[in-house]
Amino acid sequence: MSDLAAARAPQRVRHETRMRLLDVVGVADITPLMRRITLSGDLVGFVSAGHADHIKAFFPTPGTDPVVPVLGPNGAEFPEGTPRPQMRDYTPRYFDKAANTLDIDFVLHGDGPASSWAAQATIGQQLLIGGPRGSMIVPPAYDWYLLAGDETALPALGRRIEELPKGANVIAVIEVDNLAEEQRFKTKADLTLIYVHRNGQPAGTTALILNKLRELQFPAGEAHSYIAGESAMSRAVRQFLEAERGFNPEYIRAAGYWVLGEADAHEPH
Ligand SMILES: Cc1cc2nc3c(=O)[nH]c(=O)nc-3n(C[C@H](O)[C@H](O)[C@H](O)COP(=O)(O)OP(=O)(O)OC[C@H]3O[C@@H](n4cnc5c(N)ncnc54)[C@H](O)[C@@H]3O)c2cc1C
Repeated sequence: MSDLAAARAPQRVRHETRMRLLDVVGVADITPLMRRITLSGDLVGFVSAGHADHIKAFFPTPGTDPVVPVLGPNGAEFPEGTPRPQMRDYTPRYFDKAANTLDIDFVLHGDGPASSWAAQATIGQQLLIGGPRGSMIVPPAYDWYLLAGDETALPALGRRIEELPKGANVIAVIEVDNLAEEQRFKTKADLTLIYVHRNGQPAGTTALILNKLRELQFPAGEAHSYIAGESAMSRAVRQFLEAERGFNPEYIRAAGYWVLGEADAHEPH
């Protein structure tokens, strides 16, 4: 491996996994369809070192209290006779160690246990989370960075934009429903932030991100790309970058964060 390839190799870090029953201490709509839930309590030892990290959040049957499982060889094991909660992946948006708070941003898409839980969440409720189990850290050793995704990826893409160092050249293409859903980020990086709007078309049904990428002239040099959002979109963007723009597949990470029409589904590409 050349020195440059070694410098660019992603580093995988493992974390101790444990379950945490956290208190909801804040509920705020950062845009009309994005609700930030602030959690506090048992966050000792919580680590989230990479923008693509995820926690598992457990959503109890409405009207029942969260039950804390034990971690066995097959993951979380719940006491016999208790209904298994629904489990979904979410990005740790901000962990503030000093304040002992963890922010998670939920898209209020209107269907499903996670979105429904977030829509009714109030201060004083509790949420059970596990993880992150590990982090992948992409060194800032590339000529530029491409980020693309829909609103489910906004927490991860926002983290990446905020964490990239001064001088890093980053282009982000993000799909949201409309102007009111756009978020702005503080960053030292040289950021080109492009939003595309669905304007009422259902999420996961448009080619807006791909079409915008096709229009763009990319900077010279080697890029690292992080693509996340609806699965077919993410796959199509990877294919486009590899087949039509000659990107190195090793330097693309594409994730299907959700699958149109399927509950509890996600896919790596
Ligand atoms: C690593 C990772 C990190 C993630 N981080 C976040 C995050 O920080 N914030 C966030 O909001 N989501 C995030 N997601 C996506 C989230 O886990 C999914 O959207 C999940 O399906 C939501 O669960 P649910 O119970 O609301 O809906 P489900 O029960 O899973 O699905 C019910 C129906 O809703 C559809 N659906 C699911 N999500 C959406 C959506 N966003 N828009 C429209 N329809 C949808 C499904 O296709 C299905 O038809 C992440 C996913 C992964 C894999």
